[in-house]
Amino acid sequence: MTRSTTISGAVTWFPHQHFVNGDWVSAEKEDVRPVVNPATGLAIAQVAWGHGRDTMTAIDYAHQAFTSWRRTSATNRATLLSRVFAVLMANKSTIGRIIALENGKPIEQAAGEVDYAASFFRWFSEQARVLSERAVSHPDPSTHTIVAQEPLGVVGAITPWNFPLAQAAKKISAALAAGCTVVLKPAPETPLSALALAWACEEAGLPSGTVNVVHGDAESIGKAMLEHTAVRCLSFTGSVKVGAELAGKAAAKLKIPHLELGGNAPFIVLDDADLPFAADQLVKLKILTNGQTCVTANRLLVHRKVADVFTGMVLSRFQKIKVGDPLDPETTLGPLIHQQAVEIARNLVISAVEDGAHCVFGRPEDPLELDDHLQKGTFFPPTLLTHCKNSMQIAQTEIFAPVLPVITFTDDDDAVALANDTSYGLAAYIYSQDTIRANDIASQLDVGIIGINDMRPLRAEVPFGGVKESGMGREGGIEGLMDYLSAKTISTHRHGVDTNNYAI
Ligand code: ADP
Repeated sequence: MTRSTTISGAVTWFPHQHFVNGDWVSAEKEDVRPVVNPATGLAIAQVAWGHGRDTMTAIDYAHQAFTSWRRTSATNRATLLSRVFAVLMANKSTIGRIIALENGKPIEQAAGEVDYAASFFRWFSEQARVLSERAVSHPDPSTHTIVAQEPLGVVGAITPWNFPLAQAAKKISAALAAGCTVVLKPAPETPLSALALAWACEEAGLPSGTVNVVHGDAESIGKAMLEHTAVRCLSFTGSVKVGAELAGKAAAKLKIPHLELGGNAPFIVLDDADLPFAADQLVKLKILTNGQTCVTANRLLVHRKVADVFTGMVLSRFQKIKVGDPLDPETTLGPLIHQQAVEIARNLVISAVEDGAHCVFGRPEDPLELDDHLQKGTFFPPTLLTHCKNSMQIAQTEIFAPVLPVITFTDDDDAVALANDTSYGLAAYIYSQDTIRANDIASQLDVGIIGINDMRPLRAEVPFGGVKESGMGREGGIEGLMDYLSAKTISTHRHGVDTNNYAI
């Protein structure tokens, strides 16, 4: 079947309702909200807006489905997950277009997000099959002990708008592989990608109730997830503030919090780096998802010996960034998600300049030239700030805009100290031709993932997650599966033999 999207009506091949127990249903209050294309300011869809009651119902169904899904053989689970992979890949361009329309990232990146999201279904389909019990030797030969891995139960998943398909896919694929069922609440800005994923799950033949999507009022949906006793894990990706609040409430209800929060990644350029290569990678990373990625290069830390020449290379690459319509294949930078994001970024830049930063690109005299249909879009110019200090607000905040502060360092110890001087601990990047030196620095950084001469260390095969205020728990890798499992010990004593041994 050929499916199409248009600028005005983003999606015509699945309903804009909630997906609950295998059905597309309206919100109980018959409420809808618009989804806005941030590049044009135009509404592209009206989507059902749910509340706590809708969520409670979805959780009831997810709980019902859990009783049979947990007993579905690993082989069958794996087959179904691999079918979701296939459905996503078969519809890559259409789903990519939906992501570009509602999130604003350039179309090529949006298609890449479909690949990335699908890769988690493939990886976890494989992991579902290798998951096995372990036999443990027992001092009493008449006793046989095994340790099984049991699914936690219903997972309440809450996702942000920056990777609207991939963030949902990471949680759903791992939870399903483990034998859990899921109720997902996507971000209000980007519900269509999550609904496209629900549709892919339906097409793949996942049993009703295993995956449910309720879009709407964050507070009442979150509250329902916290209050329903069937929810055993709250898996959240978003801001530190909301994550910390939800984690506290989840802990009070003895639900397991799984948190992927913000980042403040240093991009460290040593004096022996391949500078043109590092500059290419830095700018590519910085403008990924229009600067709104938790693992982006939030701060450039550059050795002072090469700072001027390297900053010049970055500047020349910033000048070539093509700001425009995300649907135009030539575009390399689209809009920010909404006007509030523009205001926050603008204030950060103003405060940095007041504190002594030099704005060398993105100044008022470098205006954006946008087509007529983009005049109401929420665009922000690529901005390069030199003479920054690590103590500035801009260096201590997750920027979430195409703004790069440049900070210099004197030696490797100084670089490590600056890199770690943040409340976050998600990602870091080190560029050097001496990989022993780079690995020595890597071993001293308090973060969850590091790229050495590699701006994209994330893969479905490796665990991703943070330390410090960047969160707890991992997505991807075998660790990502373990987070949705709980060990259960079963000790079987051979009938009729009573060793009566209390000492062991
Ligand atoms: P951002 O600032 O990037 O939007 P948020 O942490 O505010 O980050 O949002 C991430 C996700 O958390 C979104 O789906 C949002 O709707 C949801 N969210 C925000 N506040 C709450 C809350 N009080 N309870 C549950 N979910 C929430």
